[in-house]
Amino acid sequence: MKPKNFSCPKCGTGIPKRTTLFLTKFTRIQCKQCGIVIRPKKRTISIVNYINAGLVGGIFFPVGMYLINRGNWVVTGLLFFALLVFVILVSSYLTIKFTKFIEN
Ligand SMILES: [Zn+2]
Repeated sequence: MKPKNFSCPKCGTGIPKRTTLFLTKFTRIQCKQCGIVIRPKKRTISIVNYINAGLVGGIFFPVGMYLINRGNWVVTGLLFFALLVFVILVSSYLTIKFTKFIEN
């Protein structure tokens, strides 16, 4: 059986979604179902990190620069916050979609 992404490679139990918030290549998670210690596959973590860096560099930075130049701090602050939330949501989504776990 081919394991689904973001689940235990041995028994297929899903990994809690909140894990995405602190997921790095050093993260170790113990499966609640079968007890094995699993870690995210390095390559899949790198892919998500590259996409996130692209998102921040490609959207955050130019939009931020544009807004700072216009000098409207209230709008700038709000849009920065909205963009930040957007980037966090997209990166969690991508993490869940692309991260594969392997037995440690
Ligand atoms: Zn398991």
